[in-house]
Amino acid sequence: MARYIILLGAPGAGKGTQAQIMREKLGLPNISSGELFRENLRNRTELGKLAEGFIKTGKLVPDDITIKMIKDRLSQSDCTKGAILDGFPRTPSQAEELDRMLAQFGSKVEWAIYLSVAENELVDRLSGRRLCKAQGHVYHVLNNPPEQAGICDIDGSELYQREDDRVETVQQRIRVYHQQTQPLIEYYRDKGILKEIDGNRSIEMIAENILKEIER
Ligand code: AMP
Repeated sequence: MARYIILLGAPGAGKGTQAQIMREKLGLPNISSGELFRENLRNRTELGKLAEGFIKTGKLVPDDITIKMIKDRLSQSDCTKGAILDGFPRTPSQAEELDRMLAQFGSKVEWAIYLSVAENELVDRLSGRRLCKAQGHVYHVLNNPPEQAGICDIDGSELYQREDDRVETVQQRIRVYHQQTQPLIEYYRDKGILKEIDGNRSIEMIAENILKEIER
């Protein structure tokens, strides 16, 4: 059976970092809705133009646009054995739509991993975060620096700071998370597939913990 695993948590909780590790360990594609939007922004596509204003101001892109983008991505051939979803779903209707989508493939969400992190940690993590231009590999200037400053260890591309990682936008994104995304924790808990993971530890410890929980 295909394995579809979701990563839930506030902005800065470590979803992207863990999704990249899980991709290697589980051999599944890692689908980041934020990274898909950023790729469309960079390429100035119609989708990118539609999403731009929302992303820059720390709001969620409307559900219909986001759902269509994810449907298209999940329909690609590399996702038939499953996927790790980072940043999607983020609203109850996205979660319901994902269930319908996967049911059409004869599948369902296997686990929802909730990375819980102390609120006062989030802003530090986001303001020190750097991404690589080529593939969005995630670093942190203090907690997880690249070997050579400003350069991605994996693909050698340049690192940059996301515009929405500035302090003003970060606060808005955390508010949006509490209002619109937090209810999903209960949604998946009710289904019996929520795994809550303490995200206040080292990247390696968290990764080990996640793998142990989902392979049990
Ligand atoms: P992220 O990289 O996951 O922090 O996402 C960056 C931005 O992309 C978010 O602040 C939203 O504006 C947009 N975005 C990403 N995923 C979603 C989603 N599932 N629903 C709506 N907007 C999203």
